[in-house]
Amino acid sequence: MRKPWFITLKFLPYSGMALFPFVLIKHADFKWSKTLVYHERIHLMQQLELLILPFYFFYVMNYFVNIIRFRNHDRAYREIIFEKEAYQNELEINYLRNRPFWAFLRYL
Ligand SMILES: [Zn+2]
Repeated sequence: MRKPWFITLKFLPYSGMALFPFVLIKHADFKWSKTLVYHERIHLMQQLELLILPFYFFYVMNYFVNIIRFRNHDRAYREIIFEKEAYQNELEINYLRNRPFWAFLRYL
């Protein structure tokens, strides 16, 4: 995958956020953070594989199920299958090269 297009938004509530085909970042310098960029690139791939809009639907549904299960925002967020895949592989440079289609299903 090519380098993503970055958009800096100072009011962004998170360090970074993937919004296909862009990666929104809170500070311009964050584009040099390999971990953040790999993490968001995994989300871009997930979004592409789910044809963009369904990704956001499943992401939010997964969050709501988790908030009922765990009654804790941080845990609910971390347990979203898309986040689990991204956090577990954000340090692996070649992850996207070898990643099977819909690999996020492994984290269900
Ligand atoms: Zn994420």
